[in-house]
This record gives sequence, C-alpha cells and structure tokens, in this order.
Amino acid sequence: MFFPYIKDIASTEITTLSINHTIGEAIQTMIKSDHRSIVIIDGHFNHILLAQDILTLNSDELDLDLPISEAVIHRLPKINQEKNILDAIHYLQEPIEYIATTDDEGNLVGLLSHSDLINSTDPEILMESYTIGDVVKSQKNDIWVKSTDSTEFVLKKMKQSDKDCATVIEDGIPVGVFTIKDVLRLYRDHNDIQLPISNYMTQPVEVLTASSSVKQAIEFIKSKPFKRLIVVNLEQQMIGMILQKELISLAYNNWSSIMKQHQQELFEINHLLSEQADRYKHLAAFDPLTKLYNRYKFIELYATESLAMQQRQHAMSIIMIDIDYFKKINDEYGHNTGDDVLRITAETLKKPIRNVDIVCRWGGEEFIVLLPTVDEQQAMLIAEKLRLAIEQETFPQGLRVTASLGVCEAQDDEGLEEVVSRADYALYQAKKQGRNRSVLFKQ
Ligand code: GH3
Ligand code: MG
Ligand code: MG
Repeated sequence: MFFPYIKDIASTEITTLSINHTIGEAIQTMIKSDHRSIVIIDGHFNHILLAQDILTLNSDELDLDLPISEAVIHRLPKINQEKNILDAIHYLQEPIEYIATTDDEGNLVGLLSHSDLINSTDPEILMESYTIGDVVKSQKNDIWVKSTDSTEFVLKKMKQSDKDCATVIEDGIPVGVFTIKDVLRLYRDHNDIQLPISNYMTQPVEVLTASSSVKQAIEFIKSKPFKRLIVVNLEQQMIGMILQKELISLAYNNWSSIMKQHQQELFEINHLLSEQADRYKHLAAFDPLTKLYNRYKFIELYATESLAMQQRQHAMSIIMIDIDYFKKINDEYGHNTGDDVLRITAETLKKPIRNVDIVCRWGGEEFIVLLPTVDEQQAMLIAEKLRLAIEQETFPQGLRVTASLGVCEAQDDEGLEEVVSRADYALYQAKKQGRNRSVLFKQ
C-alpha cells in the first residue's frame, strides 16, 4: 500500500496500569518495563502518564501514595488500527504526542507516537499538516541570551554548547541574533567583549509565526539570505529556532525510502497491468475451447495477409470447414463429447498445414483456414488433405466425424466478407452434394 496502516507503525509493546494505582506504583512499573510512558486505563478511557510528568511533580515532597488520577495525566485520543495513517495526520495538532490504537471492538492494542506517524508520512503531507511551531518545540538546540548579557558571556555559552548562534531575547521577544559571522567581525575589529551583546548583535530579527506550515517555513527560509528560522507565537514571544538544514532533513528524511517503496509499488503495479493486458490480449485473440484464433483475430490477420498478397502479387486462398451433422453428435453423445470433437478437429486441422497458414474457429462447428501464397488448385489439394485427416481421425467413443469444405481463392482488393461468402457458397454446395467433400467456388 501507498500509505501504511496504523497497525503497521504503532507499537504494541505497551505497558498499562489501572488508574486506581499510585504514582509510586507507576514509577515502579516504568522502571520495570523500561518504558518512559505508560497507558493508564480508566474504564473506556485511556490516559498516558509520561516520565516527564513525574519530573514536574515536586521531587522533595513527592508523595508516592498519590493516586495516579490526581497526577498530571493526559487523555489519549483513539484510532482504529485498521485505518490508514492519513486518517491519523490531524492528530499531529493535538498537544499529546500519543494516540491509543484500538481493534474493531475498541479494545486498546497499541500506542502510536507522533514521531511514528511523522516517520512514516509522505513529506508532502507532513509539510502541509505539521506546523513549524510543533517542529521547533522538539528541537531544543538554540541559545537564548538577554540583551544585557556581556558579549564575553555569550561567547562562552556558544563555545560550551558548540553552537554558532545565540538569540537575544528581551521580555520573551527576540530582538537580535548573534551568529558566528558577528563573532568573526568582533575579532577582526578587536571589539570590547565586556560590552553587552546588544552592541554586536544583528537586528532586526525576521521571524515566522508558529502556526505556519513546515512547507511555508521552507519556502520562507528559501527566500531569505539567512539559514536559520526564528519562530514566535502570536504575541511575538520566542518559541525556538531551527536551522534550514534541520528543517529540510526533517521534511525529507524519509523521502528516499518512500521513493524506493513507490518505485517498487509502481513496478509491481506495472507488472500486474502488463500481465493483465497480456491476458486480455490473449482472450481477445483466441478461442478458449479449441485454442485456435477467434474470428476477431482472424479479421486482423486476414487484413495483414491480404496487403502482403497485393504487394507481392501472390495468390491467397481460404477454406471454410463445417462439421457434418454435428448437431446429431451433440444430441446423441452430449455437449461435452461435442466439445471434445471440436477440440480434436482443431488439432487435426493444424497438422497437415504449414506454419504460415492460419487456422481459426469461425464459430460453432465452423473453421476457416487462410493459405497465403496458395492458389485455388493448391488450396483444393490442401482441403482434401484436411477432409481426409478428419475422416481418418479417431474421436471419442469410436465416433466417425466428417466435414464439408468450401474453397475459394481471394481476388485482389477483395474484402474478407466477400471471400467468406464465396467460400460459404462452395461449402453449401458441398453439403448439398452429400457432405464429406471439398468444393471449389465457381462463378
Ligand atoms: P450440417 O451437416 O448441415 O452442418 O449439420 P449440423 O448439425 O452440423 O449443423 P447445425 O448448424 O444444424 O448444428 C450445429 C450445432 O453445433 C448446433 C450447436 O448447438 C452446436 N454447437 C455450436 N457451438 C458449439 C460448441 O461450442 N460446443 C458444442 N458441443 N456444440 C456446439
Ligand atoms: Mg454450421
Ligand atoms: Mg455442421
């Protein structure tokens, strides 16, 4: 499938605990299971308790007997695991980074994290549905300093954390950035690093609001000379910073594997389609009972041969063959035996002729043979060979089968219908004259 199902990407190795337990028991469970998140079962509802939540509790006075229900737990949204991941994309907007997965009866079976979802999502969709705010929140990799901090302090912080940029914040609002370029300038000009960073930072800061999509963020940064993006909320308060390369790698991380998968899928689809097309082509050209060409294919082959005949000034003949008293065979021996007779007749007709000759089941118990480069005299000889072959063939239950044949040489420019009607006329004469014979069409 193009997009995986929830059950393909969700984790089923989950740890659950009833809501009646205490925080102490929850901690024990986390340690024992080595899971940093446990699902708290509360009747029909599921909640999640995260290790971070426990950290937010005051560790000095942490009451291990505190019921879980009184701690910070988050209600989990639910999704049926049989659904496609596209059905889960909108959950990325939810504050809780987990979704409970359920079976058809609504029973909890697993846990799907936002990162599971992102990792298996087509980047196009991800980029449209995930906001830059969500991304930045999870990328804690920038340094925030105050405009009054000394430049020396900022340089030290950058060195310690191995970062090439610091964002300068005043009352939560980003007012400048101090990047490696500013550092170089500072060293070149022998500036005083005791002075506050506000002296050397670059301003103003261009920002993007957190609600912009990842796609918009990529477009935005592409249009700018800088390589980092500062994200703010609606009040212009700093949320975080992300580098262009981080943004791109986040969006396209799975691109190559997705492409590979698509390629494989396309290959398989193509293969199936071409197999199907071959099957249809075969069905369209062959009679299923006798495996001979059918009438439609014969019309096509006749047209080709007729053209070749005209170009090379060759003769070309056809023989129309109709089994004698075939209805009687069906009536007396049954339809299945009738079918066997048709199959054996088809095989018998193929034996005495050349590879270039074309045998076709015209319909019912009638066959037609096209003989390129053969004139009517030669065609009569071949017709007799065919007639004798049928007469001498062994059929089921010792049946004797004969056929009547009408022979005719095609004229230049003559369409199939006209040749066939002349061959039919000769065949009718053969029937009239007592059957089991070949008759050549005569004007
Ligand atoms: P004639 O010597 O004048 O040709 O007599 P006939 O009985 O051979 O000719 P008629 O056209 O009266 O009957 C042909 C029969 O062929 C009628 C039809 O039910 C039967 N038939 C047509 N297609 C099939 C088939 O695929 N299988 C079988 N078993 N019978 C078929
Ligand atoms: Mg007939
Ligand atoms: Mg017949």
